[in-house]
Amino acid sequence: MHSEQIIRFREQLIELRDELIGTLATTAEDTKPVVLDQNAVGRVSRVDAMQMQQMALESSRRRERQLISVEKALKRTEKKNYGICTDCEEDINVRRLEIDPTATRCIECAEALSK
Ligand SMILES: [Zn+2]
Repeated sequence: MHSEQIIRFREQLIELRDELIGTLATTAEDTKPVVLDQNAVGRVSRVDAMQMQQMALESSRRRERQLISVEKALKRTEKKNYGICTDCEEDINVRRLEIDPTATRCIECAEALSK
């Protein structure tokens, strides 16, 4: 892969990372366990509150996993092995990386893995 392309993906990854960190920070409050407050009989029932907390927790876990993939991809751009399939060591299609800059496998290997 051309170094200009790597730089472009790096910028994309850094942007993605900052976005994820920002979202994780602002949603941290929603993922805290629901406090049982007998006085708080409001519009949102306790069950609703717990469901919302569960959903917030799931999306925050998903973001954390994504953040780890982004960090790993950034490391690969430094080690110059970015865009190379971890399985067959062929170049990953640039279009695939444009859709998912954290992809570690080429289409063929990713498909073989999901079978
Ligand atoms: Zn491959």
